[in-house]
Amino acid sequence: MRQNKVVNSDQSNKFTNGYILNNIEFDKQHIWHPYTSATNPLPCYEVVGANGVELTLATGEVLIDGMSSWWAAIHGYNHPVLNQAAHEQIDAFSHVMFGGITHQPAIDVCKTLLDMVPAGLQRVFLADSGSVSVEVAIKMAIQYWACQGRPEKSRIVSPRNGYHGDTFAAMSVCDPVTGMHSLFESVLRKQIFAPAPQTRFDHTFSEDDILPMEELFEKHHSEMAALILEPIVQGAGGMRMYHPEYLKRCRQLCDTYDVLLICDEIATGFGRTGKLFACEHAGISPDIMCLGKAITGGYMTLAATICTEDVALGVCQGEPGVFMHGPTYMGNPLACAVANASLSLINQNHWQEQVANIEQQLNVELAPCASLPNVADVRVLGAIGVVETHTPVDVAAIQKLFVKSGVWIRPFGTRVYVMPPYVISSQQLSRLSHAMYSALKVL
Ligand SMILES: *Cc1c(COP(=O)(O)O)cnc(C)c1O
Repeated sequence: MRQNKVVNSDQSNKFTNGYILNNIEFDKQHIWHPYTSATNPLPCYEVVGANGVELTLATGEVLIDGMSSWWAAIHGYNHPVLNQAAHEQIDAFSHVMFGGITHQPAIDVCKTLLDMVPAGLQRVFLADSGSVSVEVAIKMAIQYWACQGRPEKSRIVSPRNGYHGDTFAAMSVCDPVTGMHSLFESVLRKQIFAPAPQTRFDHTFSEDDILPMEELFEKHHSEMAALILEPIVQGAGGMRMYHPEYLKRCRQLCDTYDVLLICDEIATGFGRTGKLFACEHAGISPDIMCLGKAITGGYMTLAATICTEDVALGVCQGEPGVFMHGPTYMGNPLACAVANASLSLINQNHWQEQVANIEQQLNVELAPCASLPNVADVRVLGAIGVVETHTPVDVAAIQKLFVKSGVWIRPFGTRVYVMPPYVISSQQLSRLSHAMYSALKVL
């Protein structure tokens, strides 16, 4: 409590006495939620349990989860293997500083990740969230060129419609419109934006698609440190799926013009698009890769920035000779232990069949949405199904409908989409598809 504020004795313990506000009211009046207003927030639903593919609300409804808690909970909730890993690590030790100390959970997670990621990636920086891993990637790229005596190579190029996180450097490479750059114009670094890739994943690649990027490289390469993009699927910036050839050409441009390629696989990593990593669709390997979200199976926050030996050596050559980043909770053992359990489940490779089945079923079951009047497009890739509407949906209204039909789906703008846990059954998935169709029909 601030010193200069007069504390009303009545109010000082109004919450602990628990008499004034119930949970939902307290939440509405005092707690920020992602991308919402403090004064006029969207309604919230209180969850009291989560098991398998189901969320249980305080009001008693049981909902089939279509969101995997934002790409993360790929194995489902309350998973015995992940639970056991967490319990065992808690009984050993939950956290120790990573400065001057190392431990088995971190060593194991880095070893496993290096076995999984595309060739050439060798050095792992454990970050504490996706946004931070993007900050780290951008810092690495800029420091790399500075240490090569080319400090003018400090700008980042990015396709429009991208999303890379909410911290400042990450925000600077998000789509300028949906990322609301106008609000922070005076403090955001002016980056270089290419038009978003247009050729759809399964269409014939059009050469026109890469031309604007080529022109930008020709014109700006001497000031460009890196190209950052989400390989194949642009997530929160529009749920768009583009052609692998575009990504291949971006890799070639980076090689030709001495620009580092950063692949942000925070959303697409660990099987979501039908490949273990989305850059495998194009058969390319980045210089720096960001991972997060599903890395712990949705249990806790952990991310990783993985770079090549060349980048690591370049960053640490000359002065200052070190990479200046080190979060307090870097390499958190508890998060690493759960990540190890999650990665071991992924490495059993059931995801391949699960994701392929989800893709096939979503293709069949979402197709009818295309004939609804407010629907502009239906697209599916891997375990991601998107229905795009002509006009933005009323999130509060559609969410109420979804809860009533026993599913948890949270749209944004004109995108109504699902990316369920890989372990969803075909009956549960049908409930999601049918709820989408029914809601879009009446709204
Ligand atoms: C979610 C996301 C991020 C940010 O990760 P946080 O853990 O939310 O900070 C960055 N890039 C992509 C592609 C994402 O989907």
